[in-house]
Amino acid sequence: MNFPTQLFINGQPRAASNGKTLSLTNPANEEVLCETAAATTADVEAAIHGAHTAFEKGWRDCLPSRRAEIMFQIARVLREHAEELSQLESLCIGKPITDARDEIAMGARTFEYYAGAISKFCGQTIPVARGGFDFTLRQPMGVVAAIVPWNFPFPIATWKVAPALAAGNCVVLKPARQSPLTALRLGELAAQAGLPPGVLQVLSGSGNEIGDALVQHPLIRKISFTGSTAVGSRIMQLAGRDIKRVSLELGGKSPNIVFADADLQKAATSSPMSVFANTGQDCCARSRIFVERTACDKFVELFVAATKRIVVDDPSKAETQVGPLVSSEQRESVEEYLQTVRGRRHKIMCGGDRPARKGYYLNPALVLGCETSDRAWREEIFGPVACLRPFDNEEEMLAEVNASPYGLSGSLWTNNLQRALRVARRVESGVLSVNCHNSLHLEAPFGGFKQSGLGRDLGMAAMEGYTELKNVYIAE
Ligand code: NAP
Ligand code: MG
Repeated sequence: MNFPTQLFINGQPRAASNGKTLSLTNPANEEVLCETAAATTADVEAAIHGAHTAFEKGWRDCLPSRRAEIMFQIARVLREHAEELSQLESLCIGKPITDARDEIAMGARTFEYYAGAISKFCGQTIPVARGGFDFTLRQPMGVVAAIVPWNFPFPIATWKVAPALAAGNCVVLKPARQSPLTALRLGELAAQAGLPPGVLQVLSGSGNEIGDALVQHPLIRKISFTGSTAVGSRIMQLAGRDIKRVSLELGGKSPNIVFADADLQKAATSSPMSVFANTGQDCCARSRIFVERTACDKFVELFVAATKRIVVDDPSKAETQVGPLVSSEQRESVEEYLQTVRGRRHKIMCGGDRPARKGYYLNPALVLGCETSDRAWREEIFGPVACLRPFDNEEEMLAEVNASPYGLSGSLWTNNLQRALRVARRVESGVLSVNCHNSLHLEAPFGGFKQSGLGRDLGMAAMEGYTELKNVYIAE
């Protein structure tokens, strides 16, 4: 397999300015995969200046029809390389290959969606009191920094890159240290599809080393970030100094609320993958399960049985549903949480142990008996652990749901329409699904309330977020 190992700047692969590299490990077998360039602050400087030049010298003024044509072409090239990209993603972070294929396809569709959006994205004419002619323009900002995490590397990169480019910006993309491969390949393939040099720059490397230089650079007009709340908060503080625009997609501890009148079979058998998919490394993971007490025993029985049927195996196999965690540190961090619930009060109904094999695997666990003060109940574990508490009263349950500092996603199961509407309004989250777990549609806005973030990815809301709104008035 050929690995893209160089930075991608001004249409060319290149080594880091000081020659430094970082090594990538395949989490499924703990073997070194390859070495990729680790960008320096000098590389950040070169990438931003190149992007700024590309913006001023053409991309800003590129005809909308031409911009759309290039973006449709990028989608076509991504589809032609879909299998290669899926393999890269799967090897790099241990993502089951079937999921990787779906995510790469989604990335291509994201380019198509925003390519199509270019010709429908328009301003308003406004009948102002003094007459004359008043209209709004949605203008590109300039150079955008897109910083993305390792759990859904390719789709999240496209959720930022595609709308930003469609709106006429240039982008410096910084993938996570653990998952740079598909981002580097995106740079190359977009260039191959006709994207002019400098419009999309890709910097692999460490956020600790180059994050501040990227975020604070005066030519960066917006930072679009997905990752932890801690890093997001730091970015927002730095951005605040010169009022840079930010959008932040951060952590979550999403509820899965099950009323006794729900289709229990469907709720219980679909719920395990709403938290264990991607080995639980999902900002939308429904990791806090609230079940109405009268339905609790039945729900737990069905949930545990369904969890035991999950195929935890090598990510290269098509039937694998759950692969390894991304790294040995990530698995240890999840195991520390499990340590806190091994006391007498708690009951681990299944999983939580390591399968006897190489790779950073962990069997999916359901924990009962948590208090609301337990760390496992309150904090984002980012691994295959779900905690379940029964509830007796809707009001008290909602108070506990909303006691979380997070508010990203969630599910609600009931066959009572009034209740569904009432509870859906009250849950403090940016995304909510009723009688299913689908919270993500690339045509609809995605993002969080409270400490889960600011601004929205996807849908037309994201495209607005990569523009400045200008009002022009012409006297009669
Ligand atoms: P992270 O540590 O915050 O890293 C995210 C990205 O930020 C990586 O590219 C990282 O680079 C970079 N970074 C690190 N320090 C930085 C700094 N000082 N300045 C600028 N960039 C910096 O998050 P993660 O561990 O990769 O991902 C897990 C977190 O992401 C979870 O909390 C999860 O909930 C959240 N997440 C949220 C969403 C959402 O849509 N809301 C989606 C996915 C994940 P390095 O890898 O080099 O450190
Ligand atoms: Mg990290």
